[in-house]
Amino acid sequence: MSGCVAIVTGGTKGIGKAISRSFIKKGIKVFMVFSSDEKAAESAMTELNSIDNIADVIKADVSDRNQVNAVIESVVNKTGRLDILVNNAGIIRDGLLMLMPDINWHRVMDVNLNGVYYCSKAVLRPMIGNRWGRIINIISPSALLGRAGQTNYSASKGGVLSFTRSLAREVARFGITVNAVSPGVIETELTGYMDEKVRGEFLSMIPVGRFGTPEEVSNAVSFLASEEAGYITGEYISVDGGLT
Ligand code: NAP
Repeated sequence: MSGCVAIVTGGTKGIGKAISRSFIKKGIKVFMVFSSDEKAAESAMTELNSIDNIADVIKADVSDRNQVNAVIESVVNKTGRLDILVNNAGIIRDGLLMLMPDINWHRVMDVNLNGVYYCSKAVLRPMIGNRWGRIINIISPSALLGRAGQTNYSASKGGVLSFTRSLAREVARFGITVNAVSPGVIETELTGYMDEKVRGEFLSMIPVGRFGTPEEVSNAVSFLASEEAGYITGEYISVDGGLT
């Protein structure tokens, strides 16, 4: 995989940073897309470039089609190729449906679902041109099981799973695979909101008896991005300690 080029949305923190790190260890040049936290982006750049000087960051909001198109264009202009897209950027705005402000529904859809649509659409041309590509979408057990207080998040991630299966059928003949990875409860900023009660509830549902690490998710992503996974498409892998 050395010499390949990847875009990891939300690559500056948590699961996305672990994915970026695992790619860099394989010699894959990584562009990490983030939307607001400049400090985290700078620190991710410094950390990953100390492994190999092939990490870069780009500030862009995945929910904005023009910004997404500009990112893809600049990466292709800079490197002449684009081999891997990991649609990892995601947000939560939890709340019971009856009380949910419209803005929380729409923002989650805009980032988690429309963001995947904009990014995937924009990378198809360069990938089809190369007759090779890997698109890996990060979903969630909420897409598979549902979760009270997460109708917006579950619907967005369920949408991404269906999108994954349909796009896989469209682009398989061009050497492009499209798969998803479903992390369970992983210790990151996103799950930092959980109090002891919620943590305990989750732990009691996880057969392995612990939360996962971003590295455990990145191992699955790294495999799906590899040459060895070329006959796997339209599939999802759960990395959730048996939760689902
Ligand atoms: P995280 O620690 O909160 O990191 C999220 C990343 O996404 C950050 O780099 C953030 O950068 C970026 N981001 C957020 N909104 C963005 C936008 N509009 N445009 C571009 N980048 C944006 O999250 P995480 O826990 O690693 O989760 C990563 C993915 O895994 C998400 O899709 C999440 O739904 C999924 N997931 C997580 C868990 C879990 O337990 N952690 C479980 C299942 C699924 P800025 O802060 O700079 O915007």
